[in-house]
Amino acid sequence: MSLIVQKFGGSSVANKERVFNVANRIIETYKNNNSVVVVVSAQGDTTDDLIEKAAEITSNPSKREMDMLLSTGEQISISLLAMAIHELGYPAISLTGWQVGMNTDSNYSNARIHKINADRIKKELEHKNIVIVAGFQGINKYEDITTLGRGGSDTSAVALAAALHADLCEIYTDVDGVYTADPRIVKGAKKLDVISFDEMLELASMGANVLHNRSVEVAKKYNVNLCVRSSLNKNEGTVVKEVNDMEKMLVKGVAHDLDVARIALCDIEDKPGVAFKVFSLLAKAKINVDIILQSIGRENKKDISFTVSKSNMEKAVEILNQNKDVIGFDNIKTNGEVAKVSIVGAGMVNNPGVASMMFEALSEAGINIHMISTSEIKVSVLVNAKNAQKAVQAICEKFNLAD
Ligand code: ADP
Ligand code: ASP
Ligand code: MG
Repeated sequence: MSLIVQKFGGSSVANKERVFNVANRIIETYKNNNSVVVVVSAQGDTTDDLIEKAAEITSNPSKREMDMLLSTGEQISISLLAMAIHELGYPAISLTGWQVGMNTDSNYSNARIHKINADRIKKELEHKNIVIVAGFQGINKYEDITTLGRGGSDTSAVALAAALHADLCEIYTDVDGVYTADPRIVKGAKKLDVISFDEMLELASMGANVLHNRSVEVAKKYNVNLCVRSSLNKNEGTVVKEVNDMEKMLVKGVAHDLDVARIALCDIEDKPGVAFKVFSLLAKAKINVDIILQSIGRENKKDISFTVSKSNMEKAVEILNQNKDVIGFDNIKTNGEVAKVSIVGAGMVNNPGVASMMFEALSEAGINIHMISTSEIKVSVLVNAKNAQKAVQAICEKFNLAD
C-alpha cells in the first residue's frame, strides 16, 4: 500500500464534468489499495474573478482581507469534489489549510510554509477516508488565513507529500507534462520525459508556470518523488527528479515572463556606495530586483538599470524619487512593455557557445536585446514584450526544441 498525493489544478476541476472526471481518477487510485491525499485549486478562473471583485471595492485592499477572499475559491472546490466522491460511493473528507495544520509565515499573498502538523490528515487516512485539502492556503501565528502566491497549490501538494513521506506526488494539469516551452505558445514544443530539479526550478522561476517555483524547491529539499501529467488523459507525464547522468542537454527548455518592468537611473554619480544606496532602499521596501546592468562611467557619471515585477514598478520609482538627492541621479526612465526570455539547461555550464547561439537566433529574428543576464544553467535576455513569443519560437527552432 502506498501513500499518494495528487494535485488537480483549476482547469481540471473547472465544471461539473471535470469534477466527476477527477473524482473517478482519485477513486481509481484509492481502489488500488492506496491512501490518497488530494490537493485542489479553485475552479477555472475563480481566483481571477475574486481579484476583480476586490477591485470593484478598492484599488488598495488590505493584504489580510485579500487572502481571506482568495482562499474561498479553494474551499468551493474541495467541498464539491468531496461531494462528487460521495456520490460515486466512496468516503472522502475535505479540509481547509488550517484544518490540516498548514502553518506559514505572515507574508500575506506570498506566504511560505513553516511547518505542517499532519495529525488530522493521518487520522482521516486511518479511517480510510480520501482526504481532500484546499491548496494555496495556510494559517499564520495569528490564526489568520494566508495564501502562498499565484499557482501556490503545487507547493501545498509537494509540501504535504514531504510532510507525510508520501511515495509519490502527482501534479495533474491541462497539458501532458513539462515541455521544452509553453505548448500553448510554441507549436511543436516537445514533451520532456525527465527534467532535473535544478532545471525545473530555473524554468519555473523564469516564467514556466506549469509548476510553482517553490514547489520545486521543496521537492528538491525533501527529495519528493514528483511528476507532472494530464488530468484529461492517461499519457505518461514528466518526472522531475535529481538527475546525475552526465549526458545533460545543452538547453532543456525556454521560458518567458511578461511580468517584468525595467527601471533606469540615468546620470548617477560614479563613486563608491551608489549601488548600495539604490538597492538597499529597494530591499527595505521588500522589492525584488532581478537583472541589473551598470554602464561604464563617463565624466564621473554612469547609468544603472534593473528589472522588477510590473506590480512593483510604481512603488520603486516613488521610493527612488523620494531619495533623489541622497542617491544623486538626474532622471528615471521606465519601460513596462518588456519581457524576459530565458534558456535553461544543466549542460550549458561548460559550453560557452550556448549564449551566442541564443543571440544568433534573436538576431536572425530581428529582435533587439535590452539586457542580458547569465548563471551556470541559464541565460536570460530582456526584449520588447511584443517580441516575446517570436523570440521563444526562434530560440526553440535554433536549439531544436520544437518539431
Ligand atoms: P493548473 O491550473 O493545473 O495549475 P497552470 O495554468 O498553472 O495549470 O499550468 C499549466 C499551464 O502551464 C499550461 O496550460 C501551459 O500553458 C503553461 N506552461 C508554461 N510553460 C510550460 C512548459 N514549459 N511546459 C508545460 N506547460 C507550460
Ligand atoms: N487558485 C490559485 C491561483 O489561481 C492557486 C493555484 O491555482 O495554484 O493562483
Ligand atoms: Mg498552476
